[in-house]
Amino acid sequence: MRESLEEIAKEINACTKCELGWSRNHAVPGEGSANAKLMLIGEAPGREEDEKGKPFIGRAGRLLTQVLSDAGLTREEVFITSVIKCRPPNNRRPKKKEIRACLPYLRRQIMAINPRVILLLGGVAAESLLGIKRVGEARGKPFKRDRVYIVTYHPAAVLRNINLLPYLSEDIRLGKTLAYSET
Ligand code: SF4
Repeated sequence: MRESLEEIAKEINACTKCELGWSRNHAVPGEGSANAKLMLIGEAPGREEDEKGKPFIGRAGRLLTQVLSDAGLTREEVFITSVIKCRPPNNRRPKKKEIRACLPYLRRQIMAINPRVILLLGGVAAESLLGIKRVGEARGKPFKRDRVYIVTYHPAAVLRNINLLPYLSEDIRLGKTLAYSET
């Protein structure tokens, strides 16, 4: 029997396995459909996510929601989460030991949802799940592992360099096509 997302979220909300558990306001387990065909994984919660306990609701999140909508997808039909479930102070990059401590939750969420396609948003997600360091070289093509993975830019990187927007849009559309194809 598949583990429930609620059970995993309950553990995340009470977790102090790394130091971020002591500085967060809210953990951010993620949200969306428990039967999502497409899962999106970012880096870590930011300030607004930490305040509300919801993923991708700040500026980068609004951009992501728009790009999903342009591709004909709603946030409710996909599942959105991040590698790290608690906000690193001042939005610093998560430390390796924090990623190691948190990754088992993400792996359990992936097993529970069993999506056909996973979009890895940014370098931390790409490196943590696939060992890929260079997003620019890896993006735009599917990687077949236990399921299909697609590496793309983090929406926050797109906000810093709007020229990356067409790549993010293209990669999300590719993810949708592969996730919803008949074969
Ligand atoms: S970041 Fe992950 S491992 Fe660290 S306290 Fe939060 S839920 Fe636990």
